[in-house]
Amino acid sequence: MNSYAEELHEISEKCPPHGFKKAEIILKNYPLAEALGFDKDYVDSDDCLNIFSGNKLLQDSIPIAQGYSGHQFGHFNPLLGDGRAILLGEINKMDIQLKGIGQTPYSRRGDGKSALGPVLREYVISEFMHALKIPTTRSLFAIKTNEDVLRETTLPGGVLTRVAKSHIRIGTFEFARTKNNQALKTLADYSINRHYPDLIQTDNKYLSFFAAVCDKQASLISKWMGLGFVHGVMNTDNMTISGETIDYGPCAFMNTYDPKTVFSSIDHNGRYSYQNQPAILIWNLAKFAETLIPLVDEDEEISVKKLTEVLQLTMPTYQEYFYKEFGEKLGLENIDNDNSKIIDDYLKILHSESIDFTLSFRNLAKIINKSMSVEDSVFSKSEVFAKWFRSWKKEINITEVSTKMNTKNPCYIPRNHLIEDALKQAINDNMTEINLMSELLKKPFEEKNEYNKYTLPSPNEKYVTYCGT
Ligand code: AMP
Ligand code: MG
Repeated sequence: MNSYAEELHEISEKCPPHGFKKAEIILKNYPLAEALGFDKDYVDSDDCLNIFSGNKLLQDSIPIAQGYSGHQFGHFNPLLGDGRAILLGEINKMDIQLKGIGQTPYSRRGDGKSALGPVLREYVISEFMHALKIPTTRSLFAIKTNEDVLRETTLPGGVLTRVAKSHIRIGTFEFARTKNNQALKTLADYSINRHYPDLIQTDNKYLSFFAAVCDKQASLISKWMGLGFVHGVMNTDNMTISGETIDYGPCAFMNTYDPKTVFSSIDHNGRYSYQNQPAILIWNLAKFAETLIPLVDEDEEISVKKLTEVLQLTMPTYQEYFYKEFGEKLGLENIDNDNSKIIDDYLKILHSESIDFTLSFRNLAKIINKSMSVEDSVFSKSEVFAKWFRSWKKEINITEVSTKMNTKNPCYIPRNHLIEDALKQAINDNMTEINLMSELLKKPFEEKNEYNKYTLPSPNEKYVTYCGT
C-alpha cells in the first residue's frame, strides 16, 4: 500500500520507475528483509531483483515522488522534492524507497541517478548507525545498475533501497505551507497519526507534535555528537519529523577531537561543523515552527508565542541528552553539575592534546582495568590528565566501568580512509573489503586483535566529502 500517495496527493506526484534491465543486487540486508516479511528465497529471486531495480511493481504499489522544499545552507528553495527517488509504498508501516532510480517530476535538470560508490557508502554507514541504536533510515539492498552515470567522470551507477519510518521532512512541511492550509493540516494529521498517535487526544495536538519532534531531534543530535558524527548537510529537507538520520551524502566521522571539524567540500563557513550541529538543530526547528503557525492557534500572535516557548526549551533538553550521552560514554554513575564538569574537562583534554575521539574512550576503559598503561594510550602522562583521572575515578564503579564503557563506545567506526579504500575496490568489482567492513561494523563493540587496523585513524588525514551523489 501507499498511504502517502492516497492521502497526500497534493504534495506528491505519481511516477512509475523506468527500471534498470541489467541490474544486480550486490549488498543484501537479510535481517531487515526478514523483518519486512521477505524470506531468503525471495530475496535471492529474480522477482525481488526486478522489483528493487524498478523493472516490475510490487503488488498494490502506487509509486510516487514526494514534493518538498528546504532551507539549504540558510536559503529557501521552494521546489526540491524527490529528484532521484521513488517511494514504492509501505510494508509493515515502513517506507520502501528506491534512490537513484531515474528521473521524476522533481528532477529539475538532474538525471535522477546515483553513482554506485555513494550508494554503498550510505548502505554501510546507515547500517552502522543502526547497529549503534541511533535512529536512522535503513538500507535493504545496494544495486549495481551496470549502466554508467555521468558526473565529472563516468561512474558506475547504483540504486539504494532505503527503508524509513517515513520520508517526511521539515522541508515537506515547508512545501505544504507553500500550497495551502488544508494541505498543511492534512500533512500534519497524517504525520501525527503515523508517528505520534499518542498525541491525537492532547489539547493542542499540533503544539504537542512540535514538542515531540523537537525532543526526538534533540535526542538524535546528542547521539551524533556522542559518536563524532558530522552530518554535513543539515538542511531542513534533510531533517525528518520521525527523528531518523537521513541523507548520508557528505557525512563523515571525526578522528582527532576538534569541535570545528568540517568535511564537506561545499561547507566553506563551517555552518554544519561538528560543534554547530546543536545550534543548527534549533535553527531548523524554528523553520519547522514557522510552518505550524496556522495550525497551533487561530490567532497568529498566540501561535507564535506558544511555539516559541516550546522551542526555547529545546536547547536545555538537548543539553540534558548530551550530558546523558557522554555520561554513559564515560561510565559515570550519575549526571549532575559536578559530572558535567568531568565531561567538559575530558573534552578539553581531547582538544588540547589532539586526541582521536573514538579511540580515547576505548583506551580509557583499558587504562582503568589496567590492560593498558597511560604511556601506551592516546593520552599523555600529564598532570592535567592525572588530575582529571582522579576526579573521574570518584564517579565510577571501578570494577564494572570498563565493561559498561565497551558496550557504549564502538571500537570500529567507518573510518574515512578505510571506507574510501573499500569503495574504490567495490566499484572495481572487488567486494571483499566492503563486505568485511560491513560485517565488523555490525558488531562495532567486539574488538578483535586481527582487525586492529580498523580501529586506527589514518596517520595523515585531510578528508573531504562531496554532495554529488
Ligand atoms: P540531496 O543532496 O541528496 O539532499 O539532494 C538535494 C536535492 O537535489 C533533492 O531534491 C534531490 O532529489 C535532488 N537531486 C540530487 N541529485 C539528483 C540527481 N542526480 N537528479 C535529480 N535530482 C537530484
Ligand atoms: Mg537530501
